[in-house]
Amino acid sequence: MKIGIIGAGAMGSLYGGILSKQNDVYLIDIWKEHIDCINRDGLKIVEDKVENIVYPKATTDSKLVPHLDLVIVFVKSIHTLKAIQSNQDIICDDTIVLSLQNGYGNTEDIETVVKRENIIVGTTSHGATLLGPGKIKHAGVGMTYIGPLDEKSKYKAEKIKKNMEYCGIDTDISENILELIWSKLIINIAINPLTAILKIENGKLLESSYSLDLIKDLVDESVSIAKEIGINLEKDETLEKVKNVASNTYSNKSSMLQDILNKRETEIDKINGAVVKVGEKLGISTPINSTIVKLVKSINDLK
Ligand code: NAD
Repeated sequence: MKIGIIGAGAMGSLYGGILSKQNDVYLIDIWKEHIDCINRDGLKIVEDKVENIVYPKATTDSKLVPHLDLVIVFVKSIHTLKAIQSNQDIICDDTIVLSLQNGYGNTEDIETVVKRENIIVGTTSHGATLLGPGKIKHAGVGMTYIGPLDEKSKYKAEKIKKNMEYCGIDTDISENILELIWSKLIINIAINPLTAILKIENGKLLESSYSLDLIKDLVDESVSIAKEIGINLEKDETLEKVKNVASNTYSNKSSMLQDILNKRETEIDKINGAVVKVGEKLGISTPINSTIVKLVKSINDLK
């Protein structure tokens, strides 16, 4: 397959790098130093202290990219609209576009230039961090779940699954991908901003009855909003999932905490902000998520 990755940071480089072993892969990113490094020395992927080098093609100019069978969008969700619109030339009538990004609203942004029947969405439990230009760390391994927005396009998801599995990426088709996306979204809603505001690692959240209360409030409010748009999650079950993730990733710094520590813009608008936005559309107030969004934005503003 000819595959393009829009946003070749930590995750885009990880998927693009792995897929480049069996496919013709083009990494597309606005970060020139990173792109130049990959073209000169290859992309270095560090895993369990072992460094592997792969050789995808890389460019800052999507006009140099040929017709693609698959495009994977891996920019931060706050940049999806701009990234998909500025690279729309590489998307043809039959190009499948996949988003494994966190947050809610990526689909709507991608749909501004891609036909619904060509959009596949999903979640990933892999983890990656950028070590520097041309070098990433594969920090965690897990399942990739994908599913089509349009039921008729299930065969397109099957095609991607087959290719990913051939490259060693464990992938499954989910029958209810939107539920899975919301389930992961709510885990991010509960863990990311609280760790970012409190400046603590994930597991620490479980050590105070006050932060546990905040987690429960965020889960309850978000599950209620999800229900209003037809996503049926159980409050208790979702709360248990959040606690399990916090415990299993005890010493991890969430991506939002890393963004705050590095004084970068966070994905808050597409995480807790997504619940606020859906609530506003429905005329339902979401005081807990609204407050959390304002707190995270204040930290960003006052840096
Ligand atoms: P990242 O910041 O490392 O990479 C994003 C890349 O997008 C950057 O290299 C940036 O230069 C590039 N970019 C920004 N605007 C662009 C544009 N207009 N055109 C092309 N490239 C552009 O982010 P990441 O950690 O790889 O995360 C990507 C997504 O995956 C996020 O939604 C994140 O929440 C999600 N995610 C991350 C992890 C992880 O472990 N890092 C795990 C699961 C999901």
